Amino acid sequence: MQFQDLGLAEPILKALTSKNYTTPTPIQAQAIPPLLEGRDLCGVAQTGTGKTAAFALPSLDYFDKNPKPRPLNSSRMLVLSPTRELAAQIAQSFRDYARFMRISVETVFGGVPINKQIRKLQGGVDVLVATPGRLLDLIEQRAFNLGGVEIFVLDEADQMMDMGFIVPLKRIVKMLPKERQNLFFSATMPREIEDLGKQFLNDPVKVSVAPQSTTAERVQQYASFVNQKEKQALLTQTVREEPIDRALIFTRTKHGADRVVRFLAGAKIEAVAIHGNKSQAQRTTALQAFRQGKVKLLVATDIAARGIDVSGVSHVINFELPNVPEQYVHRIGRTARAGADGIAISFVADDERAYLRSIERITKVKCEIVPLPDNFAEMVRNLPKAAPKSNGAQNNRGGAPSGGRGRGGGRPERGGERQRHRGDGQRSDRGHRGGSEGRGEHAPGGDRSERPQRNGGEGRPFRPRKKAVGAHKGAVQKFKR
Ligand code: AMP
Repeated sequence: MQFQDLGLAEPILKALTSKNYTTPTPIQAQAIPPLLEGRDLCGVAQTGTGKTAAFALPSLDYFDKNPKPRPLNSSRMLVLSPTRELAAQIAQSFRDYARFMRISVETVFGGVPINKQIRKLQGGVDVLVATPGRLLDLIEQRAFNLGGVEIFVLDEADQMMDMGFIVPLKRIVKMLPKERQNLFFSATMPREIEDLGKQFLNDPVKVSVAPQSTTAERVQQYASFVNQKEKQALLTQTVREEPIDRALIFTRTKHGADRVVRFLAGAKIEAVAIHGNKSQAQRTTALQAFRQGKVKLLVATDIAARGIDVSGVSHVINFELPNVPEQYVHRIGRTARAGADGIAISFVADDERAYLRSIERITKVKCEIVPLPDNFAEMVRNLPKAAPKSNGAQNNRGGAPSGGRGRGGGRPERGGERQRHRGDGQRSDRGHRGGSEGRGEHAPGGDRSERPQRNGGEGRPFRPRKKAVGAHKGAVQKFKR
């Protein structure tokens, strides 16, 4: 099936062509025809499956066929998103798909001044993408009402619930006009989410794509057992050794995310953090830098990272494992997007082993256990101190994780090395994840003279590691492309 076969309006098809989309993804193929008929829909789909277009395209088609003036202080379509980042992303997708139409798309979310948003809404909008809290604020201030809504989308319902948005959500639903089309999307559909959907869906078509394990199967998954206190040393080593295009590093807490960034900064490795304590401007700047490839490491908490669609994420590193196994699936779904494969590496402390077991149970995939590097104790000892809080930890420009810039202690150049990995496959000589000759064996940012001579291994314990994370066949192929 092609987009052409779906009967979408001409300007939409033109926009799809300009984006080089020809074939609908499975969720699009299943969802678009019933949505064009005006049916309600309940969809189980993760981000990365193309679900934004699945609800955006038929809605835009509806606007094309049913032109109407914008309702003052209201919108014709309301999309609720759990996070600001996802809201901004959805709005951008709408703008892209509607670029040959006269459709206004606005976002409202917290963390930015409300007055500007009030002004934007005065004349009415076609599509409003909002987070529930700020939307309610606007409604309470009488700057917005839901009277004009013809299409209502609740995206990432399970995340909404996790984030405690259930009460605001129910209040919003009560204020919607009775006559409307409802779309409900969730990455998972446990009983409580299904019940939530039933409260406002009317005889919905049910579509479901990519059972969660499918993503998990595409990602090459590794785990290392390591003390919580020593994870930073392992992270520093990992980001130096792995051929990273872009990596998302997950921590459980906001404080933990900042700490990781500061330790990386101390080792002259550039990273940015994104979490709920950052201002909207900081979050936007961090995400933009990551998206544009200016910064290769984004350290995030689950909530901030949810729904972020950045292509080219080669690695997901779980600095801490989530205690909800489904969250792990969301995390690793950041890599392996659009059919590509990716690498997930988890650092598992003693008290996280049970989490690993429940993750493996739901993904039905066993992580390959990668032992710690031989000289790990030395790496831990030599780990540079964290950069002070006030010292640009948010955006340390000390150097890219794999760009090689030879500052502050002489980390070996990796740019050439990486080239070599990708270009001619000479990587096969690497017998362990920790890398090989002359690469990063020294403690991060430390004195190179302390580097043990591991090539040849004379006089030193050298235990080739079972399998190289970056050096396995899949990864070599991936990075050769
Ligand atoms: P989503 O699940 O909506 O976040 O979409 C994931 C990614 O897939 C986004 O970068 C979309 O732009 C892209 N995408 C969506 N639909 C298609 C399609 N039919 N063909 C190619 N790429 C698509």
